[in-house]
Amino acid sequence: MAEVLNTVDRIDVEAVNAKHKRELYKARVKIFPKRVTGAFRQLKWWIMAVTLGIYYVTPWLRWDRGPDAPDQAVLIDMANQRFYFFFIEIWPQEFYYIAGLLIMAGVGLFLVTSTVGRAWCGYTCPQTVWVDLFLVVERWIEGDRNARMKLDKGAWSPGKWRKRISKHILWILIAIATGGAWIFYFADAPTLAVNLVTLEAPAIAYTTVAVLTATTYVFAGFMREQVCTYMCPWPRIQAAMLDEHSLTVTYNGWRGEPRARHKERVDHADTKYGDCIDCNLCVAVCPQGIDIRDGQQLECITCALCIDACDSVMEKVGSPKGLISYATLSEYDGNVAGGNVTTTWRSFIRPRTIVYTILWSLAGFAMLYMLLTRDRLDINVLHDRNPVYVALSDGGFRNGYTIKILNMETRQRTFRLSIVGITGATLSLAGATEAPTGDLQITTPADDQHSVKVFVTAYPQHLGGETTPFTLLLSHVDGEETVRYEAIFNAAKAAGNAQ
Ligand code: SF4
Ligand code: SF4
Repeated sequence: MAEVLNTVDRIDVEAVNAKHKRELYKARVKIFPKRVTGAFRQLKWWIMAVTLGIYYVTPWLRWDRGPDAPDQAVLIDMANQRFYFFFIEIWPQEFYYIAGLLIMAGVGLFLVTSTVGRAWCGYTCPQTVWVDLFLVVERWIEGDRNARMKLDKGAWSPGKWRKRISKHILWILIAIATGGAWIFYFADAPTLAVNLVTLEAPAIAYTTVAVLTATTYVFAGFMREQVCTYMCPWPRIQAAMLDEHSLTVTYNGWRGEPRARHKERVDHADTKYGDCIDCNLCVAVCPQGIDIRDGQQLECITCALCIDACDSVMEKVGSPKGLISYATLSEYDGNVAGGNVTTTWRSFIRPRTIVYTILWSLAGFAMLYMLLTRDRLDINVLHDRNPVYVALSDGGFRNGYTIKILNMETRQRTFRLSIVGITGATLSLAGATEAPTGDLQITTPADDQHSVKVFVTAYPQHLGGETTPFTLLLSHVDGEETVRYEAIFNAAKAAGNAQ
């Protein structure tokens, strides 16, 4: 075992050092990932189908909100400052829901990373998903790894031109569909689709499609693993979140070393070899172009394709699967020390994951509670500043207020505006001919912000001096909702003191 340990340590250190020396400012080595089959590849196909399906289909889903609101299930309506998500409608002043969702997404990502490592990178990150999709096209047109390498090295022939042009046309079509789908989240999708085709869409729509098409085409078609390795900050952040109990894709060197090819095994039959037959299939299938046998690396997105590849090799040579597997560092160390350690669900329950789960649940419950109990009516009041009051000929004072009523329901509603706190105070609408009254009825359009200018009139004997606090009460006529606003009434310095 000591011999195996030394070999593993030496390989890791030497390989990593050599790799780092080579990598400083090195030119990109083109990667031609080989096709692989297996459980993880299958899982990735499913996740790819679901995530791409959600992305492309969602803007076309309809949701009936009545005649006065858009019927697109998910819509970011920038012009009217609304976000619609099925039965939920978020107004600008409710932006804290978006902040809450972002906090939940962040904590959720911490939780996932500390338990199953970089699962986000390997399975659901858009870069991973689109690279996978572009690779499907590439393999379909140019063949698997060896054929693609041969084509790449070969001279430009009619066949090569045909394959390359076909591949790039398909890539560009996917990229256009990707950029195109994104803008459908910001406007009524069927209308915008027609406008795009008839060249009647706004310039920003064409610009956004062009930018997203270009970035998808370049990132997924050309830059690929370089985006993960050099551009994305997430691998660095995740590295700080992993601990010895986090699952990562691991080459079990304690079992695989010393590695040897078949000929070497035959030539040195007296040597005790490990399970790795040095076939390099794990390297050939890796979309990041790394050798997992060099140890944990920043470039590894834990897509687990090398597990599938190695399992197929182990099956063929009659050795147990799992030479490359999901394992924690403590599991690995335990096995190196001669134990027979396997990771169980218990290793997921530890202080860090418990804290993340509690934080995530608290944020989720708080959001749910606020969503279920939120008001669908709000009022904003702006007191006239010039002048702050008008002295009336009958001895009274009049103050002007601009009142914004936010009717967040998708139906027209009528509200009653009244005053509490100043005896005998009356209300009148600016420009109205009716006599001032104790309350006003105001009808607001559905799902809209309605502004009215009102005057409040009061008399010195009911005022508390220069400033008198009072409450503006806005109630739905059916009594289903009431909001209040604490306001100030201004009068001349000598105004009464009866309150
Ligand atoms: S080393 Fe394995 S898990 Fe890591 S990126 Fe390569 S194939 Fe995926
Ligand atoms: S696929 Fe398995 S056996 Fe082949 S080189 Fe990789 S670790 Fe060794």
